Order: sequence, then structure tokens, then C-alpha cells
Amino acid sequence: MSGILVLAETRRGELRPVTLELVTAALALKDAAGGRVVLAVVGDEPAALVGALAAPGVDEILTVAAPTPHFEAHGAQQALEALIEAERPDLVLLGHTIDSMGFGPAVAARLGLGFASDVTRVSWDGGPIATRGAYGGKLVAELEFPDRERTLLMLRAGAYDPAEVGGAAPATRAVDVAFEAPPTEHVEFREVAAGDVDITKADFLVSIGRGIEDKDNIAQFEDLAEKLGATLSASRPLVDAGWMSNARQVGQSGKTVQPKVYLALGISGAVQHLAGMQKADTIIAVNTDPDAPIFGVAHYGAVADLFDVAEALEQHFA
Ligand SMILES: Cc1cc2nc3c(=O)[nH]c(=O)nc-3n(C[C@H](O)[C@H](O)[C@H](O)COP(=O)(O)OP(=O)(O)OC[C@H]3O[C@@H](n4cnc5c(N)ncnc54)[C@H](O)[C@@H]3O)c2cc1C
Repeated sequence: MSGILVLAETRRGELRPVTLELVTAALALKDAAGGRVVLAVVGDEPAALVGALAAPGVDEILTVAAPTPHFEAHGAQQALEALIEAERPDLVLLGHTIDSMGFGPAVAARLGLGFASDVTRVSWDGGPIATRGAYGGKLVAELEFPDRERTLLMLRAGAYDPAEVGGAAPATRAVDVAFEAPPTEHVEFREVAAGDVDITKADFLVSIGRGIEDKDNIAQFEDLAEKLGATLSASRPLVDAGWMSNARQVGQSGKTVQPKVYLALGISGAVQHLAGMQKADTIIAVNTDPDAPIFGVAHYGAVADLFDVAEALEQHFA
């Protein structure tokens, strides 16, 4: 096959949202890549997920019955290797997720594939070109894989909008994989504690950064957020300092948020922060530095002292 193979990500029998984002990326490349877009789903009941994957433009869905009901990295590795050997795609797309990190790089190394992780964009010019951050996100790099027949890319969650699903389901085909017994034993599945708040669900975030200067000032912004009917979030330095909980961190190593309004107070707008919030519908930035990068993504900005703005808002909504 020439074309693109997308490996669906599932957890406990449900499709993970990143899967349909990978489908969007694959379909956007389909014409340029000149081949088919094939999805593969590995699980104990993979056929049950076919409907949730039926996006127009997908040519075929492959189902692989896994020997265990839970995710197991060695099994996923064996399944993906077998699929690549059998289907011979030009490009394989996985989510850049904790599950894929357990087997994606190993598959690429074992099969000699071109490889990049944490990819934020893919284009095509005779082969895939992957865009990703470099040097801690300070540079944007474009990677080509000219010496590789096939390439495996792990795409960051949230980098693409999810594909619409509906219409006639594409052809499906069951693929048998001879799984070997895994060298590990699954003990139990534990859901990560949600923390004190889920900022990914908030419509209005008041987000504070190092510009607030002191831990003792946080209470003022908690009050302000409450008055405005908003949820308080933060940049990473406030979390690293132990002033705010992990659950409230926005950014590459925190949460990706997409509120209707994101009010950034004293946040410079480092790429790692922007990675988590630049899809907000309306971004309002307050910063004393007119050259702060946050103004590059803000829809509205005020070059002003955040404490003055906070006081004015408090008085207005008192
Ligand atoms: C691998 C990696 C992952 C990372 N992940 C994340 C992440 O998930 N989330 C994240 O946020 N960061 C992350 N970072 C850190 C990131 O690079 C920045 O260091 C961080 O975002 C800076 O936070 P800040 O904007 O609050 O602080 P600063 O960059 O120090 O900016 C403070 C801003 O406040 C302004 N300011 C100061 N006083 C006032 C005032 N009185 N009124 C108005 N404005 C004022 C200043 O002009 C400045 O622009 C990561 C870094 C790395 C290397």
C-alpha cells in the first residue's frame, strides 16, 4: 500500500480523542501523498469502535483483536510492526501520548523508519515534512526524511481538530497478529486524580503568571476569578514554585485549554505556554512589556500593570 496508516488510540474500550485528530492530519495529506488512508484499531473488541472511526475519506479500517483487554506496550508494538510489514504504508501516524511513547519509538528503531515525536504539523513534498519544536521550544524545526522509505510520526494531541465522523462506514478488515506472551504483567488500572479543578472544561480562564510576583498575591486573583465567574489557571513557574496545583497549569507540560475567553495576566507567552492556550476563542493579554510574545496571539491586549487592571475589574464587578 502507498499512503498513510493511522493507529487508533483506545483506553478501556473507548476511543481517545487524539485518534480523530490523527485522521484529520492524514486526510489533509491524502491527495499530496497519493495513496490511501487506512486506520487500524487494536483492542479486545476492536470491531465495536469502527463506527466511531468512520470519517469520510477514510479508505479502510483494519481491526486487530488484542489478547488482553487493557493496553499493553509490547502487544501494541507487535501489532503495529505486523501492520506496517503487511500494509507497507509511506507514513504511520500515532498520537504523542504516554501509551504511544511505550512502543512507537521502538517500532521505528526496529523497522528502520524515519521518526519524529511531538510533531505539531505535517506537510508533504515528495515525502512527509514534520514540524516540531527544538531547543526546548525556542525554535521551530522542519524535518524531512529523504533516506527513509517509511516514516513514523507521533503527533501532539490538540495539534489538529478532530475529524467529523458520519456517513457510510468504510470497508473493514480483520487482521490476525500472532502475539507473543508479554514480558510484563498488568496489575491494575488507576485513573489519574482530576485534581481540585478541571481547567480544560472552563469557558472563562483568568490565568496568572510570574508577573503576579508573590504567592501572597494569589488570593487576590482567586477572588477576582470568582467575581468574574471564571476559573483560575496559571503558567508553569507558579506551579513549579508550589504556589498553585498541577491541575491548574496551562501549557505543553500542563493542560491544553480552549476556553471562550482566556485572560492572561503577567504571562510572557513562552512557546510552551502558548502550546496550551492559543486555540482559545478570545485571548486577552495584560503585560507591562509591549514586546511580550503573548501579544502575538492575543486578540486584545493592554500594555498595563496587571494589578491596576485587576483593581479596575474588581471595582467594576463589585
Ligand atoms: C520542556 C518545557 C516545558 C514547559 N512547559 C510549560 C508549560 O506547560 N506551561 C508554561 O506556562 N510554561 C512552561 N514552560 C516554561 C516556559 O518556557 C516559561 O518559562 C514560562 O511559561 C514563563 O512563565 P511566565 O510567562 O509566567 O513568566 P515570565 O516569562 O517570567 O513572564 C512574566 C511576565 O509578566 C510580565 N509582568 C511582570 N510584572 C508585571 C505587571 N506588574 N503587570 C503586567 N505584566 C507584568 C513581564 O513583562 C513578563 O512578560 C516549559 C518549559 C520547558 C523547557
